[in-house]
Amino acid sequence: MAAKEYDVIVIGAGSTGENVADRAVKGGLRAVIVEADLVGGECSYWACVPSKALLRPLQALTAAQSVAGAREAITGSLDVAQIFARRDSFTGHWNDKGQSDWLRNAKIDLVRGHARLSGERKVIVTEKNGSTLELIARHAVAVCTGSRAAIPATPGLVEAKPWTSREATSAREAPDRLAIIGGVWSHARWGQLGRVSGLRRSRSSSADRGSFRTLNRLRALSCRAPLSDGA
Ligand SMILES: Cc1cc2nc3c(=O)[nH]c(=O)nc-3n(C[C@H](O)[C@H](O)[C@H](O)COP(=O)(O)OP(=O)(O)OC[C@H]3O[C@@H](n4cnc5c(N)ncnc54)[C@H](O)[C@@H]3O)c2cc1C
Repeated sequence: MAAKEYDVIVIGAGSTGENVADRAVKGGLRAVIVEADLVGGECSYWACVPSKALLRPLQALTAAQSVAGAREAITGSLDVAQIFARRDSFTGHWNDKGQSDWLRNAKIDLVRGHARLSGERKVIVTEKNGSTLELIARHAVAVCTGSRAAIPATPGLVEAKPWTSREATSAREAPDRLAIIGGVWSHARWGQLGRVSGLRRSRSSSADRGSFRTLNRLRALSCRAPLSDGA
């Protein structure tokens, strides 16, 4: 297996990895990104972009409802199907062609597959078809692999099949009920989402307060995203 050499190898094509690779190339280096899933990462498909796309119609409606003269023009209610369709267009229907084209234009090579470190400045990529490719970095390997939602070890929670931010942002239909576990920033966003979908009940509670078996008829949503709003 002949190894391919680059100045910089970036593992993960989320917003962090894209920026690292772009900076490296703009600084005159040769860079490759290795991505196991979609180019663009969480932000584009399961986080910032779809969550904001889902919430925008509610915000627009609320703004109009707060203005006398405009509120009188509102005679209908939110169209949930249209909200999901709008979200789908913002995520490119979970197709990363736009972002992989961007990589090409930015002169960043893309290797699709799962990367692992195999030595100093060495990376082995297992591609989708099972074949492997060795990459060697002259300068650095940047690990930009992001994170995943953590589901707390609360009794009954796993059995309740909780949503994380991934399932919430890519949902195809609105749940009847939603229990929101935790009280940090992202949960407040999901509470708003509950209003979009016309939930019968939206509840916030601490994951440490006991069993969630009683919530089996609710969609439990657990996520962690310690971020500031408005970013
Ligand atoms: C609901 C929600 C809303 C958010 N809204 C905002 C917002 O409005 N503004 C904001 O700034 N932030 C927001 N965030 C946070 C933002 O989504 C993250 O900070 C950002 O996505 C992190 O980017 P990243 O590139 O570090 O990681 P990721 O986007 O997770 O990218 C990592 C990439 O690495 C790939 N990868 C992992 N391991 C390997 C491997 N071994 N080999 C190859 N590839 C691999 C993954 O497939 C993934 O594509 C939000 C988060 C959530 C959950």
